[in-house]
Amino acid sequence: MAPSIDRQGYWGQPTSTLDWCEENYVVSFYIAEFWNTVSNLIMILPPICGAIQTFRDGLELRYICSFLGLAAVGIGSWCFHMTLLYEMQLLDELPMIYSTCVFVYCLYECFKQENSVNLFPIVILFIFSVSVTLVMYGALVACLVMRSVFIVTWVYPWLRALCYTSLGVFMLGFLLWNIDNVFCDSLRASRQSLPPGVGVVTQFHAWWHILTGLGSYLHILLSLQIRSTYLKYRPKVKVCFAYFDILLLNCCFDLMLVIYLLISLFVCPI
Ligand SMILES: [Zn+2]
Repeated sequence: MAPSIDRQGYWGQPTSTLDWCEENYVVSFYIAEFWNTVSNLIMILPPICGAIQTFRDGLELRYICSFLGLAAVGIGSWCFHMTLLYEMQLLDELPMIYSTCVFVYCLYECFKQENSVNLFPIVILFIFSVSVTLVMYGALVACLVMRSVFIVTWVYPWLRALCYTSLGVFMLGFLLWNIDNVFCDSLRASRQSLPPGVGVVTQFHAWWHILTGLGSYLHILLSLQIRSTYLKYRPKVKVCFAYFDILLLNCCFDLMLVIYLLISLFVCPI
């Protein structure tokens, strides 16, 4: 087993039930897991811009909630990884459940009248969200995947690329999350011998944040595009980045890409 190189820091001994593979207080005295913390920017800034743009475009409240829910996940995760305190761990995990409930509502109510509110699924999702377990979260994500695949297979096949890019990015993040957990000892040992700039790339939990942030953002865009198409809005999207055939919502995604690239450079200084 690799020797622990965790240090003492500003927030004291970790009280959270989880302590990830990144070595504690190595980069900063004030941030327990530096890379796992700053990588949350991808989940905070672009969704806030998305919420503002959605509000400006006069789109439905549920999509503003989706973007803000994703930003809340990023803020909770930032606080958790920065402090490794149990209270902050709850701030990380609960918004994940709540925001996924909003995503599920959006995707299952996408073929209803404009501004309609259906209380039945809201009550069901509320009951679901208060019975917080990892299995419940998995079940919610499975609902999202099945519904997305159904819609792009049978209703709007032209949105397949966006749907599968979102799913693929998310799954890649999940793969890295598992590698980080399973091979933590080897990763820690390799970071001792690698130059710091290269060792940082092996912070796979930070990559999980970046990839799930991107995947979730793309999922909200997909959901919004499905809804806009159904309501026959004049599309407020533009097509660029043609290689992936991704539909981008005004400048939000462009901004996200810039931030994404900046963080990639920051995390991977070659
Ligand atoms: Zn995390």
